[in-house]
Amino acid sequence: MKTVVYPGSFDPVTKGHIDVIERALKIIDKIIVAVGDNPEKKPLFSTDERMDMIKESTKHLKNIEVEKIEGLLLDYVKSKNTNIILRGLRAVSDFEFEFQRALMNREINNDIETVFIMTKESYVYLNSSIVKEIAMFKGNVKPFVPEIVEKKLIEKFS
Ligand code: ADP
Repeated sequence: MKTVVYPGSFDPVTKGHIDVIERALKIIDKIIVAVGDNPEKKPLFSTDERMDMIKESTKHLKNIEVEKIEGLLLDYVKSKNTNIILRGLRAVSDFEFEFQRALMNREINNDIETVFIMTKESYVYLNSSIVKEIAMFKGNVKPFVPEIVEKKLIEKFS
């Protein structure tokens, strides 16, 4: 039984994240979506709100758990009895950052492997920040986020 941890801030979860999850489930047995805080980003949604939106948007899928990351990611991954981290890859611009992080994690713990799933072409330019910006200016975010996220964004900016 192969379990992976998919960490991220998911502020909020987008169709790009969901696409990565759905693709990963074709080759692995279980995904733990691990919601954490990126120290460089101030979140719009609380951790609980972000987790609830992921749960709602993945309820059509089996073998998904949504949790909050406690402590260092590597310790958290180990506590879940796995050594695999899942990340999504969009454009080349993600590569440098992801490459550094994956190698750093392996430097700290040689057992840890990071696997990458490439997103659908139409989601290559999609990220949570752009979605928040569109929502803030009352634009249409329907093509980019699950229904529950659209609803929460409209509420947040109304
Ligand atoms: P972080 O702050 O850790 O980057 P994000 O929520 O922005 O958290 O991203 C979590 C993971 O999902 C990252 O691996 C990121 O590359 C990936 N991701 C984000 N948006 C997309 C997308 N549109 N398509 C594919 N992967 C994505």
